[in-house]
Amino acid sequence: MQSSLHIKNLTLYQQGQLLLKLNEQVNGGDILTIMGPSGSGKSSLLNWLTGTLGNDFSAKGEVCLNGQNINNLPAHLRHIGVLYQDALLFSHLTVAGNIAFAMPKGEKKQRKQKIEQALEQVGLAGLGERHPDNLSGGQQARVALLRMLLSDPKAILLDEPFSKLDTQLRVDTRKLVFDLIREYKLPAIMVTHDINDAEAAQGKIITLQSQDHLKGNS
Ligand code: ADP
Ligand code: MG
Repeated sequence: MQSSLHIKNLTLYQQGQLLLKLNEQVNGGDILTIMGPSGSGKSSLLNWLTGTLGNDFSAKGEVCLNGQNINNLPAHLRHIGVLYQDALLFSHLTVAGNIAFAMPKGEKKQRKQKIEQALEQVGLAGLGERHPDNLSGGQQARVALLRMLLSDPKAILLDEPFSKLDTQLRVDTRKLVFDLIREYKLPAIMVTHDINDAEAAQGKIITLQSQDHLKGNS
């Protein structure tokens, strides 16, 4: 069965004011792009999907992952992987330790092998015992990517994941992330300000409206 992330009739409110409405299905291997000005609700949408929406917000609607309603599941049981603009690696753990932290339990040797293979796949062969602080920004981004992928997610959310990388690194990292999303056939939603990211994703683009008129400062 093809995997899918289905957002059914979502209405999201911040302090009782309408923030956004959305009704979308993303199939495995597809990347839905969300654009829109700062404050339009992009991160809040992702927080709703992961089950981490703040107290200021309320929502109506359903989210189904592979046909299962996950609305009432806590964040750690939703199996949704998120990648942010900062790698957010633990500096007291090694590269391998960071990746292992998020992996499902299993036999130690097999886990180690899986990590080594994954590091090799993204050009980081042999760096497992290093500490993240000694890696370049691009290398850290790839470790964060592997940590997310090896946690065995059923869907992937990307919140401006490439915005801190400079041009060539950005293009390369983006290609790597998109290739892996397609290889694993996972549904993905990407928030970005960069039209080049949106075009590279080759999927539908939704632009959220500015909410400045709600702020009473016009
Ligand atoms: P975007 O990611 O598109 O910049 P956000 O989803 O972060 O937008 O913000 C949507 C609205 O919610 C904005 O008005 C913002 O000020 C507000 N907001 C964001 N985070 C919080 C929070 N933790 N508590 C209260 N309000 C928030
Ligand atoms: Mg945001």
